[in-house]
Amino acid sequence: MSNNILVINCGSSSIKFAVIDPKREITSVSGLAERLGEEAAQVIVKQNGKKKNLPLPGGDHDQAIATILSHIEGLGLLQDIVAVGHRVVHGGENFSESIVLDEKRLSQLKEISHLAPLHNPVNLLGIETTTKHLPKLPQVAVFDTAFHQTMPQEAFLYAVPFEYYREYGVRRYGFHGTSYRYVSRKAAELIGKAPSECSFLAAHLGNGCSAAAIYEGKSVDTSMGLTPLEGLVMGTRSGDVDPGLHQYLASQLGVSLDEVMNILNKKSGLLGLSGISNDMRTLEDAMLAGDTKATLAIDTFCFKVARYLCGLAASLPYIDALIFTGGIGENGPIIRAKILDHMQVLGFKVDPELNDVQGDKQGRITTEDSTLALRVQTDEELMIAQDTLTLCS
Ligand code: ADP
Repeated sequence: MSNNILVINCGSSSIKFAVIDPKREITSVSGLAERLGEEAAQVIVKQNGKKKNLPLPGGDHDQAIATILSHIEGLGLLQDIVAVGHRVVHGGENFSESIVLDEKRLSQLKEISHLAPLHNPVNLLGIETTTKHLPKLPQVAVFDTAFHQTMPQEAFLYAVPFEYYREYGVRRYGFHGTSYRYVSRKAAELIGKAPSECSFLAAHLGNGCSAAAIYEGKSVDTSMGLTPLEGLVMGTRSGDVDPGLHQYLASQLGVSLDEVMNILNKKSGLLGLSGISNDMRTLEDAMLAGDTKATLAIDTFCFKVARYLCGLAASLPYIDALIFTGGIGENGPIIRAKILDHMQVLGFKVDPELNDVQGDKQGRITTEDSTLALRVQTDEELMIAQDTLTLCS
């Protein structure tokens, strides 16, 4: 019997997809529908290391999913798919684990869309469109927030009037949970312990960046909050600022609160500080060529990651390892070294040779006498496929 799962990650103008056998950890086909709604809309399909572009001028989400499914059918894979797993950004407090969707759950999910207005409505669109095309297959939702539902109150509450938590859901939720669940299990495997016996710090550094403390296989604190804006410096997001900044900027610039939010979400972070790019590779190149603003952006980024990780250590009794993951965490030895240099107080000493490793090799990047830091490759799609298969078999 087939174990193939279709994984769908639906964004506002893009849809990532993959067909994965989670038991054998094999991806038979994957790809991306991008620029949806534009003339340049297209589906890029990846199979056996080769890419194929399927133009879809002006195509919307519905047409993109139809194109993806007909391509999968053409490959003879459609009849083998047993269920669909969807990435859903926000599960609120309703969902602390992945779920099989039915009408009741879908309506519960719609009720919390206001918690993530940029993400959840498009995730729901992905679910509804896929269900329309594949009505007989079970659909599963895997939430970015679910893994962090184990945080204690002292970690998730903001010090604002308590009734705002009860009435409006004002609290820290945390994101990147699917990635943390995956890499913490992988790291446990790498150090030869059960996840339930491990105490980890972790940093998921990609376009969005966050850090977490994971104790006995459960999240006990993380840097993102009510929204994915809180915490670390990110590609275009500011991370933590003084909450008083919003009013100050609105009055200095003469702009609305919406525009301030737009600045903090889209024009800040690495892009805002450097004035060059939100992309770490571009900034590294600029830094190596002597650009002082790129250097400042990178130094600020690294210091804030280290400062957060040291703060998150307050949730742990000891540290088995610090896990680096995400595009920057996995592929940026210069960044990892800079972060670890700020963390000598916790006993971290980078091993320059081990840290320089690229490719598929995962594992230790610190010296023998250091607190352990590991490079671990994340695989959120595989985690979604595993959950989906578990719930549907
Ligand atoms: P997303 O959060 O969108 O999934 P990724 O996890 O792919 O993003 O991370 C994208 C980031 O990873 C970009 O800032 C990119 O520059 C960075 N990155 C990728 N490869 C490298 C590298 N070799 N060195 C430094 N940064 C890298």
